[in-house]
Amino acid sequence: MNTAFATEAREATLKMTPHQKLLMEKRGKKIYLGHEQRKGWSGKLPFYLFWCEDCKQYAKDYPHGHIERRYLLCAHCGVYHNFVPWWVEFALFWQMIRNFFIPPSMRK
Ligand SMILES: [Zn+2]
Repeated sequence: MNTAFATEAREATLKMTPHQKLLMEKRGKKIYLGHEQRKGWSGKLPFYLFWCEDCKQYAKDYPHGHIERRYLLCAHCGVYHNFVPWWVEFALFWQMIRNFFIPPSMRK
């Protein structure tokens, strides 16, 4: 458990409107909190607040992994939350279709 992120998630939750909480809990929305730079980091990373359905708590994290497998980790229970942007999933889908139907010699 990441206690620092858990505490920060609690603080960030206090600033959320009831509507934002509803979107996070019912729609799985991740709310952007801003870019932060931590000790030992070479740059800033975006942080998000989201609802963890597994432990029923709000969690805060920054995206991990390559964009095609991007995820957020729940600071309370460690569960992975898929965070692949919709346009990446869309692009991968079309790439798969293209690779399947178009012979390599006809691809650009
Ligand atoms: Zn959790």
